[in-house]
Amino acid sequence: RELKVELGERSYPIYIGEGILEQIGSFFAKHHIGKASPLLIVTDEYVAKHHLAIVETKLREEGYTVASYIVASGEKSKSLSVLEKVVAAALEAGLDRKSTVIALGGGVVGDLAGFVAASYMRGVRFVQVPTTILAHDSSVGGKVAVNHPMAKNIIGAFHQPEMVVYDTATLRTLPDREVRAGLSEMIKHGLIWDADFTAWMEENASKLISLDQEALQYGLYMGCKVKSIVVSQDEKENDLRAILNLGHTIGHALEAVSGYNELLHGEAISIGMVGSAKLALRLGYPEHIYTVTKRILQAYGLPTRLSQHLNTDDIMSAMLHDKKFMEGNMVFIVPTEIGKVEINKNISSAWVREIVEELKQEA
Ligand code: NAD
Ligand code: ZN
Repeated sequence: RELKVELGERSYPIYIGEGILEQIGSFFAKHHIGKASPLLIVTDEYVAKHHLAIVETKLREEGYTVASYIVASGEKSKSLSVLEKVVAAALEAGLDRKSTVIALGGGVVGDLAGFVAASYMRGVRFVQVPTTILAHDSSVGGKVAVNHPMAKNIIGAFHQPEMVVYDTATLRTLPDREVRAGLSEMIKHGLIWDADFTAWMEENASKLISLDQEALQYGLYMGCKVKSIVVSQDEKENDLRAILNLGHTIGHALEAVSGYNELLHGEAISIGMVGSAKLALRLGYPEHIYTVTKRILQAYGLPTRLSQHLNTDDIMSAMLHDKKFMEGNMVFIVPTEIGKVEINKNISSAWVREIVEELKQEA
């Protein structure tokens, strides 16, 4: 499958298929990525173990000079100190202005390598090779960043890739919990944009969880498509792009409060999406939004209730620090029907507090 992200001069393709890493060399050649300048692959320790050799081999067979840099797995690699090490590797490998940086991995590697590409020599080309389901979200849209100890994703840029090469065979080595957490973002893409796709997500839960290749390709295609439509209409997040944050206001606070180790991102936004559906109920939108949202998330074995031990005051103050709160109002993405959301800038913090409490009582 092939999809194009429409961004004028910065438009780029997303290739999705089983085993397409075999053809990565020809994709590079087709995109006029020159062979005179070296390439740098950035990946993490787990992904390297399973999937680095094939990428290096196929690119070398095509005639490219390839260096690789392997970071530790996990969010801690999205830091300035790791960035410095990747830049050192780029300098040692002789990367120049015409070089390309390749992100081989999940969202962590994508964000880190993308920011290296955005900043190295004021910007070089960049290719995304996602290996997690969550990365269907992070590899599309051009947001790249590293974290600061005081805030997530706070040092970053917009830097669109040349292309995205999504080999669904790589997902077979992904741990089951990561599979489900990634599918949470796919469900989100349905809920914000497409009722039919949402229904398909519910019907195909067991296929997706078991990595049925046909189902995965369609799901990733649709997820990337929703994301790319939204990003094409609002690349720099002036308004519409905010709808991608469904479930994220509460979700980010839960990640922060639980110290980024108890809940995976997709699990935190699963609970956040239930919270948004509860807000919809309070605003008088139809009951079935809540029922359907919860039913789908449960079909994927995703969490829909909040652990009692997380403190409500801590969650509330984490939300107030979130960069999405502008002018003191609480901004929430609220579903108004399945496949549609609104950006509501007038949500009272008292309601949000009550909903956080209710999320601890959920069945
Ligand atoms: P991740 O990159 O840490 O990958 C999850 C885990 O799976 C890691 O332990 C990794 O080593 C392992 N892994 C990855 N691919 C594997 C494979 N094929 N086989 C075996 N193990 C594999 O995390 P993620 O969930 O992909 O991404 C989360 C990150 O994405 C966060 O930092 C988040 O901020 C970022 N993100 C960015 C955007 C954006 O628009 N830029 C959007 C959403 C999320
Ligand atoms: Zn997310």
